[in-house]
Amino acid sequence: MTSLRPRLRFAPSPTGQLHIGGARTALFNWAFARRMGGSMVLRIEDTDPTRSKKEYEVAILDGLKRMGMDWDEGPDVGGDLGPYRQTERYDRYLEVAAGLQEAGWGYPCFCSSERLAELREGQMANKQNPRYDGHCKALTKQEVDEKIAAGEKPTLRFRVPEGQTTFKDLIRGDVTFQNTEVDDWIMVRADGNPTYNFVVVVDDSDMQISHVMRGEEHLTNTPKQVLVFKALGLDVPLYAHLPLMLGKDGKKLSKRTGDTALQDYLDNGYPPEAVLNFLCLQGWALDGENDLFSIDELVKNFAPESVAKGGSILDPDKFKWMAGEYIRRDSVERLAERCAPFMVAAGLMTAEEIESRQDWYEQAVRVEQERFSLYSELPGRLAYLFAADAELEWDKKAEKNARKHVEGAETLGQFAAWLETQFVDGNIVDAGALGQGAKQWLADRELKIPALFQPLRCVLTGAAGGADLFEIIALMGREMTMARVLSGADRLAAEV
Ligand code: GLU
Repeated sequence: MTSLRPRLRFAPSPTGQLHIGGARTALFNWAFARRMGGSMVLRIEDTDPTRSKKEYEVAILDGLKRMGMDWDEGPDVGGDLGPYRQTERYDRYLEVAAGLQEAGWGYPCFCSSERLAELREGQMANKQNPRYDGHCKALTKQEVDEKIAAGEKPTLRFRVPEGQTTFKDLIRGDVTFQNTEVDDWIMVRADGNPTYNFVVVVDDSDMQISHVMRGEEHLTNTPKQVLVFKALGLDVPLYAHLPLMLGKDGKKLSKRTGDTALQDYLDNGYPPEAVLNFLCLQGWALDGENDLFSIDELVKNFAPESVAKGGSILDPDKFKWMAGEYIRRDSVERLAERCAPFMVAAGLMTAEEIESRQDWYEQAVRVEQERFSLYSELPGRLAYLFAADAELEWDKKAEKNARKHVEGAETLGQFAAWLETQFVDGNIVDAGALGQGAKQWLADRELKIPALFQPLRCVLTGAAGGADLFEIIALMGREMTMARVLSGADRLAAEV
């Protein structure tokens, strides 16, 4: 083990989509490995046969890659210290388990699940922490052999010694547990399947992991694991338990509260860079001043020691704000490309239409760039450009604004005649110049800006606010603009 070139690992269980807490764990491990010129190992912890699924493994790897992370060793890229999928390592685990049993660190337990349940209930009724009572601890070899010969299948329990267990946590300092708090836990189940707390030690040791950085929910597992390292005479890695990510209500994020899967955020149109940046802020800060920073800055600066101990609160409003900031900083080309699937899914444009009207589409994205926070919001903002002219709905506020101006319909009608002359081959060449021209047109008639702009916005977009009107006219072109202005003027004149 060397701390100069640390070896880190991310060890997800493929029992669901990649959780955002898991994504943060992966990110911090990866950033530290990269910063120190160390190695990043990806290990798949699939020992739970009922809940582990190949499709989740694929989804997790995919999610990590989409976030821009990579790894030096793993089930997909190989490496010298594999295999990197726990179900492919059972022979190794059972060999180590046999060694531990041989050395007296493990003992077979024949207690039935009924007995264990009763024991548990009794302890709970007496307000004691449920724990194994050591019933099989003192069985002689002969008793064990007899039971096995009679067909009984034991579990293998770890024999927790007396005393206390201390380990170094880079975030919390030295952490000490009394061994009385640690049960004689099961290392290998009766069906021969080894358990997490045992296999993780074999793996972390075989894969020469120097730093174990993972969520705080594993803190109580750590003394169990440290005891196994010591029983095996191995160096204990350094630990760093990352603070729990809490919801705004101060409760742990859970699948029930929704939006815990990384994929959900990406599917909902959060820019991947914003997700990365936001996850970094869950327990870590670049300098206390700059909330917006890149993954490169994380890599340059991250150290486990600088992670906060306390629970980090996930603030959805701040997350969305950050998403918007990334949208504003993006190039129009990339933003357009990333929004394209949402435009297609919303049925506004097909992929082919986007390709054939690329310039127009990018222009539409540019016009809205300041005004949306998630890729998925763009279709809603541009929907008015795709509505049939006759079916454009006016929202109440837009219509109220338009009708405030008694002469609104008439002004629109007159403006339409001027506006029509401004198109060249059906298009507006310079939206800025058109805006200036319109203001002059108003000044010549001693009209105030809202007297035209409010009715105009209403009939063109149906909304009370939004992008620059003349950019909108340029996007619409002559046909759509004139159809909406003329029919809108009629509608304003006719209806009250
Ligand atoms: N497989 C564990 C989990 O997904 C992680 C174990 C570890 O990092 O030690 O929570």
